[in-house]
Amino acid sequence: MRKRNENLDRPVSDLKGVGPAITRGLAGRAIHTIEDLLFFLPTRYEDRREIRPISEIEEGEPALIVARVLTQGSLSFRRGGKAGYQAVVTDDTGTICLKWFHHPPRYLKESASKGTLLLISGKVTRFGAQRQIVHPDVMPLENEEESREYKAVIPLYPEIEGVKRGILKRLVKKAFEDHGASLESLIPVGIESRHRLPSLREALEALHFPHVPPPLSDEDFVERKRLIIEEFFLFQAAVLLEREEGRRFPGIRLDINNDLYRGTLGNLTFDLTTAQQRVLEEIEGDMAGLRPMNRLLQGDVGSGKTILAILASCIAVGDGLQAAFMAPTEILAEQHYLTVHRMFEETGVPVFYLRGDMGKEREETLRRMESEKSFILIGTHALLQKDVTLTRLGLVVVDEQHRFGVSQRRTLKQKGFMPHVLVMSATPIPRTLSLVLHGDLDVSILDELPRGRHRIATHVLPDSLRSEAYRMIEAELEKGRQAYMVYPLVEQSEKVDLLDATAMASHAETLFPGRRIGLLHGKMKPREKEQIMSAFKAGEVDVLVCTTVVEVGIDVPNATVIAVEHAERFGLSQLHQLRGRVGRSTFPSKCLLLTQAKRTEQASRRLKILAKTNDGFLIAEEDLKIRGAGEMLGLRQSGLTGFRIGDLRRDGETMALARELAAEALKEWSHPEAEEIKAIFAKRWSHGLNVFDIA
Ligand code: ADP
Ligand code: MG
Repeated sequence: MRKRNENLDRPVSDLKGVGPAITRGLAGRAIHTIEDLLFFLPTRYEDRREIRPISEIEEGEPALIVARVLTQGSLSFRRGGKAGYQAVVTDDTGTICLKWFHHPPRYLKESASKGTLLLISGKVTRFGAQRQIVHPDVMPLENEEESREYKAVIPLYPEIEGVKRGILKRLVKKAFEDHGASLESLIPVGIESRHRLPSLREALEALHFPHVPPPLSDEDFVERKRLIIEEFFLFQAAVLLEREEGRRFPGIRLDINNDLYRGTLGNLTFDLTTAQQRVLEEIEGDMAGLRPMNRLLQGDVGSGKTILAILASCIAVGDGLQAAFMAPTEILAEQHYLTVHRMFEETGVPVFYLRGDMGKEREETLRRMESEKSFILIGTHALLQKDVTLTRLGLVVVDEQHRFGVSQRRTLKQKGFMPHVLVMSATPIPRTLSLVLHGDLDVSILDELPRGRHRIATHVLPDSLRSEAYRMIEAELEKGRQAYMVYPLVEQSEKVDLLDATAMASHAETLFPGRRIGLLHGKMKPREKEQIMSAFKAGEVDVLVCTTVVEVGIDVPNATVIAVEHAERFGLSQLHQLRGRVGRSTFPSKCLLLTQAKRTEQASRRLKILAKTNDGFLIAEEDLKIRGAGEMLGLRQSGLTGFRIGDLRRDGETMALARELAAEALKEWSHPEAEEIKAIFAKRWSHGLNVFDIA
């Protein structure tokens, strides 16, 4: 068994010369342990390998020279009241002037005299006719021989407040000398050599003490990549171990030939797409199999995820169990409830609905549930409450699961014993992030839209073309279609924006005379929301003026145009979701992004991408590039982005490789080794993040 060197976990203050001030400085950069210090890497390198004759050094370039002091003294002009200082130095080939606009190095002034030999490095510039180096690094030398020692590639570390560059370098050197030999990779040796990875020690040595400057491009930088693999590996190993754990218990094997399921499948009003069929087979395999299903269904907006969730529910309920279907908003939960209710009307299967604020109705529902053995329960977070008991829970469905925490998924799951779990998301997550967030789930992808769907034409319209937007909306209404008009709701100015939507609703009546206008926003009572939503769905409202409450899940196929006001204020994924409210039928649809004059460059970039593509995965990739992983998932505070070296935006491939390696390692590890990995992971990620609690 691998024996980890515990000294690596010792605090940096163990190193000689590290007092409270330096400890504090290092802590500011999350450097607490010796290991943290060793993984604090230079970001740039300066090549000081070649000493050049003065005659050959070029303006604008860094130079390393060995030369003797010819003259020195105060600079003839004053700057900020203080005298500058200068020295003219020479080698056999020429002279150059060194300048300091504040204090020169003390020994230069105090102990250097004419003829003192110096090693000088800095960037060459020109002042009038003269070449000069301003604020050079200088070091006195005993003799020319000595200069050899200082020829090197100099690592430049990110600045740390309260810790001087030289001190940091010395500490890293000391840490490496004392503990470098015991640096051992978490990746088993066999796997390391099979994949021809340099050792951890070699990699760190190459980065901290390079003999040649590392390549500028990160891709060619094997050693850096090696270190990223190391940290991603730990992460993936922990995720896979967690997944193993979940698979230790047998699941509930269900009969996929039960009448309810077969009947519902036979009565569908449309043909499933090839992608839907494929995913359905995967679901059947899971639910009839030995292990509990733990599946993420990912599919772009409008790809038809709901029907698969309903069919999975049929497998569970038709075999005498209960299915719980949770959605993040009341309108979406209500929509699912109505859909399922309608579908099951003739089957006699009870369908229940729970949301917050139901008053007496809630108790009534719970009581009715108690008298039923098997049923479908649909609702919001309200399903999570303690008094909702689901003793025969066979399936948990979580729609738009990125809106929930995994702990919520877990709470629901734990109302039963090892139920099957299906989580769905329309927010396509780039593969890198998916490996991070959903590493414990099997993934099914719906990469096909139902037949006859059209690309949604997207127009970015500045305020000056507003009337054009209204004209396009009116044209759709004229054809008997419906429209959404969306207003942003920014927290800080919620009231103002609310006014916007409300004011806009009455304005819409003058814009579209004779049309039926509805208003929907989050501050309305659930009942009111339900009423307006079902009126819209039934085609009794032509234009729905609303806030982003309609962002996810809402399905009104007859709506073919969506106008988004202040589109520059929305994020990329959010706009894509909003756009997904249309294009849900065979009618061609339009998305109108109205913008105000003032928009940032980033906003313009977002809008351009949207106008260019309908592909949710491409959009997610772009979103990740623009916003970064943390912000994209609202995780800025969570520490997910807290990989020390790896960057989820850049190192997707490496994450995939790390996962492969982790899967290999899992096969090799004994139980205590696996436990050790879990412990190391827990410690490393202790501040801030519980990976299994953020998806
Ligand atoms: P999402 O994946 O965004 O949740 P939905 O499940 O809401 O999408 O489906 C979008 C619309 O497409 C719904 O009106 C649904 O009834 C319809 N739909 C789903 N599958 C098909 C299909 N195979 N053929 C035609 N329409 C379908
Ligand atoms: Mg949906």
